[in-house]
Amino acid sequence: MTNLKGLVLDFGGVLTTPLVPAALAFEERAGLPEGTLLNALYLDEEMVRRTEDLERGAITQTQWNTAAAERIGVPADDLMGRIFADLRPEVALFTAADAARRAGIKVGILSNSVGTDPWNLYAGHDLEHRFDAVVISEDHGLRKPEPEIFRLVLDRLGLPAEACVFVDDTERYLPPAAALGFATVHAKDPRHTVAELEDLLGVPLTAR
Ligand SMILES: [Mg+2]
Repeated sequence: MTNLKGLVLDFGGVLTTPLVPAALAFEERAGLPEGTLLNALYLDEEMVRRTEDLERGAITQTQWNTAAAERIGVPADDLMGRIFADLRPEVALFTAADAARRAGIKVGILSNSVGTDPWNLYAGHDLEHRFDAVVISEDHGLRKPEPEIFRLVLDRLGLPAEACVFVDDTERYLPPAAALGFATVHAKDPRHTVAELEDLLGVPLTAR
């Protein structure tokens, strides 16, 4: 038996297909040398700072698009949407989330935002109705891995960290969650993630 009663899911890369292959496909479509975009996003300190500002809601997606376009030498228009055009819902994880809720487990979303205008990663998913809590970083001026944002989603779920599993595709967000008391799962392959969650939560999470 398990004492876990809550499941906290990241959105991009957990409830969607992985981000890096989508970004690599964008580079190819844009005729950029492989790695141009990922280097600009993850290794350029100024862009890393801008992305963190975007996640906190301190700048808009349009401002981010302008800055990123300048860095990588492409048009700014809806750049974030063009970068992630290949992302699709990760059906196995949506199915698992629904099954967990049917089994009485509370399921929340904890997502570092990339802004919602002009491109909205969350559009069409009806998150507010589908989940027990939805915490999008830009709405709170916070971002993972700050402990305050983990506490916020716990508060909304009405559960202590020790009763919850946290799932993220960004591995560096897991230790801060574990330090608060969460069990953690690093999302890489969806089937593996669902199997790990079934083990931890003690309920079947595949389609009925
Ligand atoms: Mg993610």
